[in-house]
Amino acid sequence: MKSADLKQEFKAQFGTDAQRVFFSPGRINLIGEHTDYNGGHVFPCAISLGTYAAYAPRDDMQARFYSANVAQQGTVTVDLNNLAYRKEDGWTNYPKGMLVELNQAGYQFDHGFDLYVHGNLPDGAGLSSSASIELLMGFIAKTVYNLPVTNLDLVKMGQKDENNFIGVNSGIMDQFAVGMGKKDQAILLDTNTMAYEYSPVELGDNVIVIMNTNKRRELADSKYNERRGECEAALAKLQVQLDIQSLGDLDLNSFDRATYLINDATLIKRARHAVLENQRTIQATEALKENDLVTFGHLVNASHVSLENDYEVTGKELDTLATTAWAQPGVLGARMTGAGFGGCAIAIVAKDQVADFEKNVGATYEQEIGYAPIFYVAEIADGPRELAD
Ligand code: ADP
Ligand code: MG
Repeated sequence: MKSADLKQEFKAQFGTDAQRVFFSPGRINLIGEHTDYNGGHVFPCAISLGTYAAYAPRDDMQARFYSANVAQQGTVTVDLNNLAYRKEDGWTNYPKGMLVELNQAGYQFDHGFDLYVHGNLPDGAGLSSSASIELLMGFIAKTVYNLPVTNLDLVKMGQKDENNFIGVNSGIMDQFAVGMGKKDQAILLDTNTMAYEYSPVELGDNVIVIMNTNKRRELADSKYNERRGECEAALAKLQVQLDIQSLGDLDLNSFDRATYLINDATLIKRARHAVLENQRTIQATEALKENDLVTFGHLVNASHVSLENDYEVTGKELDTLATTAWAQPGVLGARMTGAGFGGCAIAIVAKDQVADFEKNVGATYEQEIGYAPIFYVAEIADGPRELAD
């Protein structure tokens, strides 16, 4: 999308001229799934698909929001002196929640604005359109009001927005990947300590293909909370004997010796995923550093197997994409990405095989599931930014 087009869409909607254009990315997670609320590591990166906004200041204290992606909502007007969650305000509660968090951190706004939003992320597909829009609002506010906040501050506010304002009990990964993203780098984040390091993603003659199941994640919220509860229950049983803060504190050996404490088949499977996925994530980062793409790919595959069998968050659609991808020539690895139950999977595919890959995986998926998936080649991109004219 071009800045000039965004400005034109703004003018058609609001009748005035936009001044500035901003962008905030979506994210994929390469490996380390459902570990961010278990004190484990994640390894995500921001992508070139994301959310755009054209912006103009106002003389009064009103903020007017319009999204081309949710045109049926129309324009929502809110008073910046009286920000509150209102169900009927729909998607605009995400950006409103960011402004509330900024207020609570002691920052005031001295004028209103008009904001025209248009994204190219599939919404509700596990590429984190919600974190994208949260960080977009946070970054715009930081820029136009000259606030002395860092992107890392905005990341934490984004999670609070999602947890407290929207009411989704999510971990820190999505906002972190979006807010801290860097071109061609993934981020190894230890969610226990919040220590992080950037790691170049050099895939040689390979690219990352995103595969959208086109299935909405209907069960996602309730099952997500169920998994969190199961991991908390397993941790509590381990803590009776072990001095640990989270499942991320355990490695394979210490977990194996302690499973008798959990003594429940389902809880053991859930905890085993959290522990082993954390170990796999560390190993995968090391493999990538050593340019060992084959090992990296095997760990990516193992992640999917664990999410399918131990964590049970995949479903027929994601399993069909992953298993079909594994059987294609030129594929290093494939797994679901994001919370699961639909949404997207990723595959690392040789550049010269991508066309055949999409054709074959698309055909098998359509035959098995009854409708087509969508493919995007992912570029690893920077975090939130202002775009030139
Ligand atoms: P995900 O973050 O995986 O895409 P969520 O369910 O967490 O899925 O967030 C999706 C919600 O975020 C949408 O229902 C909508 O409220 C909001 N949203 C995302 N992108 C946009 C957009 N471009 N315009 C308006 N709202 C958006
Ligand atoms: Mg989300």
